[in-house]
Amino acid sequence: MFTGPVRFLKGVAALDGLPDPFPLEIALAGRSNVGKSSLLNALGNRRGLARTSNTPGRTRELNFYLAGEDRLAIVDLPGYGYAKAAKSLVGAWQSLIRSYLRGRASLRRVFVLIDARHGVTKTDEAMLDLLDEAAVNYQLVLTKADKLKFPGRERVRLETVARIAKRPAAHPDVHLTSSVTGAGLDALRAEIVELLDGKASATG
Ligand code: GDP
Repeated sequence: MFTGPVRFLKGVAALDGLPDPFPLEIALAGRSNVGKSSLLNALGNRRGLARTSNTPGRTRELNFYLAGEDRLAIVDLPGYGYAKAAKSLVGAWQSLIRSYLRGRASLRRVFVLIDARHGVTKTDEAMLDLLDEAAVNYQLVLTKADKLKFPGRERVRLETVARIAKRPAAHPDVHLTSSVTGAGLDALRAEIVELLDGKASATG
């Protein structure tokens, strides 16, 4: 799934620009600067593929990437939590994301990235609320694990597991990753491949 190239397909600013569904679609969400582009690059063993955070105009779009000979779409959701974002943009952001989350039948899981140094913040909680409301299956992925020593990073993981235990749409397991050392990436890739296999067997 991740051995071939991952390619950028398109940025979508409004729902009518959404491409037709793919066999498997997953999305990545997270606060700006959480390491989303780095993780996407690391998953695809690529450098410089996802540069959404530095590309003007791309930061408020749903950015579609394709992997696994176009069987897997990875949707990079706009980063949230920019203090300087105007209220109206927050509203537009929310409504695009909300409609996408509710209306996209092919979306199997949203991976919500959380900076391991900070754990789940208030802004992250708002995103998790949105996902619970939309009843979209989601799973937390701690990023930048290399910035913490053992056993601190394991403690953060367990705290995060406890923090989401009562959330209805949350997957109980939490991934711990580093795009710098590559830690946890194989487990995350395996989880995504499993989603595709599950989809294949569910539909015959
Ligand atoms: P995005 O805004 O969520 O797309 O975040 P980026 O991927 O652009 O990363 C934000 C900053 O965090 C950059 O300076 C990255 O080099 C750094 N970063 C991202 N992932 C990691 C990681 O796993 N470990 C460390 N130490 N730094 C990271």
